[in-house]
Amino acid sequence: MQGQEICPALVVRRRLDPARARRLAFVVCLILIQIPWTLLFAGPATAFGTIDGGGQHREHERITRAALSCAGTTPSRGECFADRSMDQLAGRGRGFGAVGAPDSDEIGNPAAHCDDADFLANGYPRTRRQATAQLTGCVDHLRTRFREAIISAGELLDDKGWVLRDEVILDSDCRLFDNNEGRAKCRSIEGFGRALHGAQDFYAHSNWADEADPTRPVGADNPPGLNRPGPSVLLDLRERSAVRVPAELTTGCFVLKDEIFGVGECLNRVTHAALNKDNGLIDPLNGVAIEPTTARGAVRQNFAKAVSAAITETRRQWNDFRAELSARYGADRAARMICAITRDDPVHECKRPAGWTGDSIDERAGLVTAILAVVGLTVVAAVLIMPASRRSHGQGRGSD
Ligand SMILES: [Zn+2]
Repeated sequence: MQGQEICPALVVRRRLDPARARRLAFVVCLILIQIPWTLLFAGPATAFGTIDGGGQHREHERITRAALSCAGTTPSRGECFADRSMDQLAGRGRGFGAVGAPDSDEIGNPAAHCDDADFLANGYPRTRRQATAQLTGCVDHLRTRFREAIISAGELLDDKGWVLRDEVILDSDCRLFDNNEGRAKCRSIEGFGRALHGAQDFYAHSNWADEADPTRPVGADNPPGLNRPGPSVLLDLRERSAVRVPAELTTGCFVLKDEIFGVGECLNRVTHAALNKDNGLIDPLNGVAIEPTTARGAVRQNFAKAVSAAITETRRQWNDFRAELSARYGADRAARMICAITRDDPVHECKRPAGWTGDSIDERAGLVTAILAVVGLTVVAAVLIMPASRRSHGQGRGSD
C-alpha cells in the first residue's frame, strides 16, 4: 500500500505481485515527478555600389552576402544571417538594405564613406595631420553607428530574457531612414549595416589593400599602395582610442565633379576617381570578384583585393559585434540577442540557452523547491519500499 501513498494518483492493481506493484509504482511516480521538471526547462558617396545600374552592381549587398549569409547551409548559430534577416541587412531587389543606407541619406557626409582623408608625401596641399583627422572622423562615425546597434539590441529581450515578439517580427521590411521604426531588430541591423558600409568603403576608397600602377610614376593620380590584407587595425569599432594611421595611407578627395585629375576643392589632390575600386562583378556566394571597371581597380588584382579585404572586414565586424554584446549584456543574454538578430522566426527559434542564468529570484526559488521535492520523494520512496521488498523476498523463500 505504500506505493499508493507515495503517489496517490496511481492505483496499483491487486492482481500484480505486491513487491512488483510497489516497484512499478515507484518507477511511474519518478517519471511523473520528472514531468514538471522537464517543463521547467522548455522555454517560452559613391562607393562600392548600392544599386544595379550606372556602373554599379550592388557591390555592398554582394560583399555582405558573401561574408555573412547562411546561404542554404545549416541554420545560423550566430555566425551568419538567415534569408529574410539578411535581406534587411544587405538589401534585395531595389531595396538598399542597412548596408546601403548611407548611399541614400548620408551621401554628402564624407565620414560615412571614409572620403577626403587624402595625403601624399612631398609638397602635398594637405598635411598628414589633416588627413589623419579626416580618417579619424570616419572611424568615429562608424563607432557611433556600431554603438547604436549595440544599444538597440538591448531592447530585443524582456527582463527575464525572452525574445519580445514586437521587437523582432519581420511581417514587413525594416523601414530604414525612418526614425519611427519601432522594431529593435531593425534598428540594430540598421546601425550595424551603416557601420559595415563605411568599413567596406575603406577598402574601396583607400590604398590600404591595393597597389600603384607600376607602368606610371607615383603621384596624385597614382598614389602608392600599401598592399595590406583586411581586417585593418584602424577599424576596431569597439575601441574609443585614437587610431594610428600609417604615414602613406590615403583615401580620395570627393566632389560631385569626380575626375582623376581633381577640380575645385580637389585640385592637385588624390581624388576618389583616381583611387577608388568601387565597381565590378562580385559573386555573392563565394565573394569572387572579376571585371573591375575603375582605373585603380583594374591595376593588377586591386579590385579583387579590395573586395576580399572588405569581406574579411565584414566578418570581423560581426565577430566584434557579438563580442561587444557579450561584454555589455552577459553571454547568455547576448546569445539570445544574436539569435534574435540572425534568425527569421526568433520567437520560436531562440529558446532559452543552456546555462541560462537570467531567471528572476522567484523562478530560482521555484527551481530549488522542485529539486528538493524530487530528492525528498525519491528518498522517502526508497525507505518505504526497500523493507517491504525484503519482507516479500523473505516470505517467498519460506514458502518454497
Ligand atoms: Zn559609400
